[in-house]
Amino acid sequence: MRFVLTRDSMSPPLLPGPVMNRHFLAGCLAFAIAGCDASSDTATPLPSAAEKVPTSVGATAAGPTGHADNANSLESAAQVRRRLADYVPVRLTADLSAFSARQKAMIALLVKAADGINAIYWQQAWGDKADLLDRIDDPATREFAMINYGPWDRLNGDRPFVADVGTRPPGAQFYPADMTKTEFEQSKLKDKTSLYTLLRRDGQGSLTTVPYHVAYKKPLEEIADLLRKAARLAEDDGFRHYLKLRAAALLDDDYRRSDMAWMDMKNNSIDIVIGPIETYEDQLFGYKASYESYVLIKDRVWSEGLTRFAKYLPELQRELPVADKFKAETPGSDADLNAYFAIYYGGDANVGAKTIAINLPNDEQVQLRKGTRRLQLENVMQAKFDRILLPIGLALIADDQVRHLNFDAFFQNTMFHEVAHGLGIKQTINGKGSVRKALKDQASSFEEGKADILGLYMVRRLAEKGELDKRRLMDNYVTFLAGILRSIRFGTSDAHAVANTVRFNIFKQQGAFRRDPESGRYRVDFDKMTTAINTLAARLLTIQGNGDYAAAKALNAQMGAVDAQLAGDLQRLEQAHIPVDIRFEQGLEVLGLDKP
Ligand SMILES: [Zn+2]
Repeated sequence: MRFVLTRDSMSPPLLPGPVMNRHFLAGCLAFAIAGCDASSDTATPLPSAAEKVPTSVGATAAGPTGHADNANSLESAAQVRRRLADYVPVRLTADLSAFSARQKAMIALLVKAADGINAIYWQQAWGDKADLLDRIDDPATREFAMINYGPWDRLNGDRPFVADVGTRPPGAQFYPADMTKTEFEQSKLKDKTSLYTLLRRDGQGSLTTVPYHVAYKKPLEEIADLLRKAARLAEDDGFRHYLKLRAAALLDDDYRRSDMAWMDMKNNSIDIVIGPIETYEDQLFGYKASYESYVLIKDRVWSEGLTRFAKYLPELQRELPVADKFKAETPGSDADLNAYFAIYYGGDANVGAKTIAINLPNDEQVQLRKGTRRLQLENVMQAKFDRILLPIGLALIADDQVRHLNFDAFFQNTMFHEVAHGLGIKQTINGKGSVRKALKDQASSFEEGKADILGLYMVRRLAEKGELDKRRLMDNYVTFLAGILRSIRFGTSDAHAVANTVRFNIFKQQGAFRRDPESGRYRVDFDKMTTAINTLAARLLTIQGNGDYAAAKALNAQMGAVDAQLAGDLQRLEQAHIPVDIRFEQGLEVLGLDKP
């Protein structure tokens, strides 16, 4: 699973008319993003699955960038230039100075392997990359095709921006273009739904399957060879073992052992996620995995801090501001949650909106045995904070409080959101079964809302216990409020925008912030915010514990509306020119590494 965070450019929820903005984001980000749908009932320490990142947006009304025309009409060269400018370039780097020459040489091999993934993903998403680029004269359009790995604008309803390419096939290149769903369903091919096979036509025109390791044999052999070379340089035993197994897996499409080995390694400072992993690209059936890669450097300071903070979970659970019966479960304190600097994104990871957090592996057998690992990609989050969230805060937070908007607070809120999924209870207290089942379609927004608010509760309690800097709590509060405003304005799915609006209205009712009538800007009241956090936490935990579906619906109905004043304030963001997303400048040269 993966999580992104963008500006929802095309479908502002405040505009009237049909809003089909499943699009964008997702992400278990405190406040900003609301998207882990917590649907996994697997035995992971932090149940926090995620909303998928849909790759296509429905046609919607004109967004802030002013595309009012038909979703299927061709984007003009001028529109493409504007769209391109909506993606701010960000250099993907990390401090590698602590690594030995041998480790740097290994990193260079990993980057080269990760880069090899791009070629395979191009084949899956479009086909012949060179042929497409040859058809494009305009340099901006060519660059835009590189961002989109094809001729369709992924963050704008897949509108084509190259002539004569037609609409984007929902099955990408995983299936024959002329195959119908019925034909697929009637086919007797036993591996047709495999993650790792392509559907093709044989000489007689009948459907047949081709395993990935056969279809992409040549580039996969090169990538596997690079991973084996990297394994020879690896200093961490677990990582060396994983690299060898992963190289083998690329050549036979059996990934389970390498996934297990990946979960077993705990002390490596360098990591690579590589292979056919997510299925978002297959919009026809969602069966087929796309190749992607991330090269990552672990942030040891944060990662060790998180392990330490997670140990407080049982204690914090007992101290929750709610009646004992709603906190009777004991949370696990062995979260596999780490922070990383990403230094390379390849293939499916690098298309369209950029991922800020991943939760892997997807193989349920591995999840049952080993749990999952959540990877927070810190430098990419920072880029999105700087470019997307900060401008929103600067436009809407009171002048004397904008100094409290900062990335450290944002990152803390985000990380503690993840940990806070472990607080509260999973089973209702009155025999209605799991909270998830009892709250039905409301479950995910309540679970995310709980994690947001209890994440902030954790930050405060840990500060009071001396684990975090108490003087900086106001940063967490003000940054949290800015995140709520972002979420309401550029909200993701309706449910999450509503959850944030509920939070906004309850905070307002409790005086957690005040709006300055002259400037239309918002100012946090520290003490009242602290009280409001406790009040809201108790309310959400009670509804969850009682599995009270009617109360959940009623809360959203009573408190989930955006009033005219707030809507007016949010309109000011139109002038802030907030980018849609980021794109990367990346590779060996950016990292200052020699070619392997
Ligand atoms: Zn979450």
